[in-house]
Amino acid sequence: MRIRYLPENLVNQIAAGEVIERPAAAVKELVENSIDAGATRIEISLRDGGKSLISISDNGTGMSREELIAALDRHATSKLPDDDLSDIRSMGFRGEALPSIASVARVKISTRAGNNPGWDITCEGGKKSEPSPSSHPSGTKIEVRDLFYATPARLKFLKSDKAEYAAVKNAIMHLAMGFPHIAFRLTHNDVTGLNLPVVTDSAGRLAAILGEDFEDNAIPITAERDGVTLSGHISLPTFHKGTSQNQYLLVNGRAVKDKLLNACVRAGYADVLARDRHPVVALFLQLPPHDVDVNVHPAKAEVRFRDSASIRGLVIGALRHVLHENGFRASSANTIPFLSSSRRMPGSGNYYIPDSGLRRNDNAMLAESPQLAWDHDIAPSARAEVFELTSPETMTFPLGAARAQIHENYIIAQTGEGMMIIDQHAAHERLVYERFKAQMELQGVEKQGLLTPEIINLDEHLIETLLANAETLKKLGLEIEPFGPGALAVQTVPALLAGRMDVTKLIRELADELTEHETLGGLEERLNQILSTMACHGSVRSGRRMNAEEMNALLRQMEKTPLSGQCNHGRPTYIELKLNDIEKLFGRK
Ligand code: ADP
Ligand code: MG
Repeated sequence: MRIRYLPENLVNQIAAGEVIERPAAAVKELVENSIDAGATRIEISLRDGGKSLISISDNGTGMSREELIAALDRHATSKLPDDDLSDIRSMGFRGEALPSIASVARVKISTRAGNNPGWDITCEGGKKSEPSPSSHPSGTKIEVRDLFYATPARLKFLKSDKAEYAAVKNAIMHLAMGFPHIAFRLTHNDVTGLNLPVVTDSAGRLAAILGEDFEDNAIPITAERDGVTLSGHISLPTFHKGTSQNQYLLVNGRAVKDKLLNACVRAGYADVLARDRHPVVALFLQLPPHDVDVNVHPAKAEVRFRDSASIRGLVIGALRHVLHENGFRASSANTIPFLSSSRRMPGSGNYYIPDSGLRRNDNAMLAESPQLAWDHDIAPSARAEVFELTSPETMTFPLGAARAQIHENYIIAQTGEGMMIIDQHAAHERLVYERFKAQMELQGVEKQGLLTPEIINLDEHLIETLLANAETLKKLGLEIEPFGPGALAVQTVPALLAGRMDVTKLIRELADELTEHETLGGLEERLNQILSTMACHGSVRSGRRMNAEEMNALLRQMEKTPLSGQCNHGRPTYIELKLNDIEKLFGRK
């Protein structure tokens, strides 16, 4: 066996394997070049999902004849003037995108730098032509034909035109998010897919990309610490999606797929969103170039922070703060889809409470507040309960006066300006959860001993998981002990839950969750997860009838409780219908 140096074109093809994974990756690299060239307008057009043609033209600086020749050489870049990898201020710096693309596709570049002569060059199978004079206007146009024709193995892995196009569009939306002062236009087979005019700031770009729906359900966020600033918009917890595709995380203008930032978003929303749902966020992090390493991954999609703990603290802290401040507010579109889609009148977005002016209550008071008295079961019935308005002044409370309960779960309350529909199960679940958390902060969850311990049979590995977490569970009021092979004894349960839940069911669910959650580490996250599960088990089921007093007590508690606008799974706990809106629904206005 002899070691040999690989031919240049092969080296470029190997690099292309990492950098140019699919058409979207080629588009990303080329658009980044246009951004680095100072363009204010970038046009991208594709044929067949980018497989047969990707064409990018910009009005940037353009290239001279010499630059054009060098641009296609490996490790040739204009972007590292000081050889300093710790001070990167451009999107590119590796000098390998163009030679990589040119090693696997047929490339033509036309360019002109200002008023200088223009040049064309072609490159096929890694072989450059001599530049020839061109009449191209100022700026650069790069056409990439038959991507991966030279590497058939890669060609086979491409998805449908539609899927590749969708990936390109997504890549451009991420790029465009960071550069509101650049206009972007994308066409696919001559059909316009994106048209983003220049706007003054990222908020304007955000609206253009994410739409009115998001605007109606977004809260602005800003925070600053040690020279690092965070800005952007995040969705209300009740506005969520099935994938995390709609999370825009930008570090110094660069869209990244960063595990740390993803985890921050998850942790920030952990209290208010089910684990399989994802908020929509656009977060812009600005920090000195020296504090972040972008030279981590060939596609420059990952970054490493010098002080990741501080970034983590800043982002999670800011998310939690903003979500708490907006805790008593549910979202619009998700709440009543039929209202917002078919019936919503232009200009009216009033199906949520904008800001009730309520502030979170003192935790001590919350922890001690009397338990609501609904421990007596009443036989279910389909009858609606209607209540007299005994004290009209209750109508002035934000959630109004309880006037009826229907379908044994929905409280209808009357307010000065309209009505509220409250989901009693969701609401109570949130109240129990917040009370747990308040108790935790003060002295640990209050527990109550069981007269006879509850013996639960379980798989050995689940028992192990539970016992490994015994200390944590104890803090939360659940004392467990081993009880011979394949069994556990439960000695105490949280006082808030005593007598109103199925202990065996709760323990089984906790065991499953702890097993699944093991990898997610963070003690606080785990505690909150357990509390949330316990709250769900301990809250008033739908199907429980309540009297007027109990209902009004529930409403008053909600008004005092942080984050009561949604249940632990991110569903709203109530919706508001203003008289004005009701009248519009009936066409009276
Ligand atoms: P990098 O972006 O890492 O420098 P590339 O291979 O993507 O590496 O590009 C090589 C060089 O070609 C760039 O450094 C730049 O000088 C030049 N270049 C590429 N695209 C353009 C463009 N659209 N306008 C002006 N110059 C460009
Ligand atoms: Mg580049």
